[in-house]
Amino acid sequence: MSEVVDPATGEVVGFVAETSVEEVDAAIARAEAAFRRWRAVAPGERARVLRRFAAVVDAHLEELARLEVRNSGHTIGNARWEAGNVRDVLDYYAGAPERLTGRQIPVPGGLDVTFHEPLGVVGVIVPWNFPMPIAAWGFAPALAAGNTVVLKPAELTPSTALRLAELAREAGVPDHVFTVLPGAGPVVGERFVTHPAVRKVCFTGSTEVGTRIMAGCAAQVKRLTLELGGKSANLVFADADLERAAATAPYAVFDNAGQDCCARSRILIQRPAYDRFLELLEPAVRALRVEDPARETAEMGPLISAAQRDRVAGYVDGANVAFTGSRPDGPGFWYAPTVLLADSTADRHWREEIFGPVVSVLPFDDEADAIRLANDTEYGLSGSVWTRDVGRALRVARAVEAGNLSVNSHSSVRYWTPFGGMKRSGLGRELGPDALHAFTDVKNVFIATEE
Ligand code: NAD
Repeated sequence: MSEVVDPATGEVVGFVAETSVEEVDAAIARAEAAFRRWRAVAPGERARVLRRFAAVVDAHLEELARLEVRNSGHTIGNARWEAGNVRDVLDYYAGAPERLTGRQIPVPGGLDVTFHEPLGVVGVIVPWNFPMPIAAWGFAPALAAGNTVVLKPAELTPSTALRLAELAREAGVPDHVFTVLPGAGPVVGERFVTHPAVRKVCFTGSTEVGTRIMAGCAAQVKRLTLELGGKSANLVFADADLERAAATAPYAVFDNAGQDCCARSRILIQRPAYDRFLELLEPAVRALRVEDPARETAEMGPLISAAQRDRVAGYVDGANVAFTGSRPDGPGFWYAPTVLLADSTADRHWREEIFGPVVSVLPFDDEADAIRLANDTEYGLSGSVWTRDVGRALRVARAVEAGNLSVNSHSSVRYWTPFGGMKRSGLGRELGPDALHAFTDVKNVFIATEE
């Protein structure tokens, strides 16, 4: 049994059984048997089951959100959005089974058609930072394409995934089509990688573990999607709407207490606007409401664990602190939003993913300098460009090596559009119209028509 802890108080609020390797093997065997039935379910019926699942999630939105606040310390506003995202992603991919069309390709001597065949059992490995959305981005398209799913939530945040599995059953998802297996990464997650019946792994988490999983999957030529770390740049040009850029910058990095792979954790400001931007940023950071995440007004909650809080603090020790926001006193894993001035790009806090409410600031000279600095990282997940010059916005957005760019906005995730990383931030894309194909293999069939 492992403890479930409320990060806002540090109190143990429940216990969850850990799945053993033998139990994982048995669950995969059942999922493999269920695959043969699920793939044969008519597309329209599979769509109906997913729409019912979405409706049941919708009916339990508040309950799921409250569960996430208690297990993950997310603000209630964010947690409601996250539960709504699960519903929306299910609804979106519920439209897919009936539209998963192949092609008819002109060839001599016969008819040639392609099919998008489901893979089999898909293993989804989820981190603790966004337990609900990241789970759904894997299981919804996987199920829609006709696969069955085994899913491992992060050790620290199993609550909502376990509840979603119950809701799936209530919605009529057949037995063993969607199974949640809480437990340790090196036990349950590792078995998804080594078990030959698991035909694809969707992993979100650290670049370190993702790299090992990729090596493990290579041994079986197992399909793989990786969503890993980030160190994204928020590029603010001197001609930008500085008021809006400064007012929104704290949310772009301190949302979810900075535990966000898309966090714009490096702010680059064009030199003529540097002082003014910091002058505007300071009151915005100080005004951020860091408080009990269950309160309707909360804008930032605690970090996930004491270990994560200590790790974050390690980056701030000895660094040049410009200013900080507030944090509540008392128990819980709290850390105040912190703005650091980078001395150079060699600073550890400038280079490494902190995964906490800490942002590093550096000036730049011109467009070429901004692009060079933004790309001076092994990561490439997201980024923002603030400018009133449309041509520059497009030039810079095209030049920054990252999978998700936003102009005069910090939006990264929309379920209609592809999401994923370049460089060491990941492999493959989730969400959007194409993600479905990542859960299928193309089969080509030629039918001779000549006598
Ligand atoms: P992690 O990579 O250790 O864990 C992510 C998931 O992988 C968890 O479910 C874990 O149990 C599982 N796992 C761990 N070892 C495994 C193994 N050997 N085989 C298979 N599965 C395994 O990440 P974490 O502990 O959640 O966070 C550590 C760091 O990772 C963070 O500080 C942050 O830098 C990064 N992170 C990134 C994202 C993202 O969305 N890109 C999300 C969470 C964490």
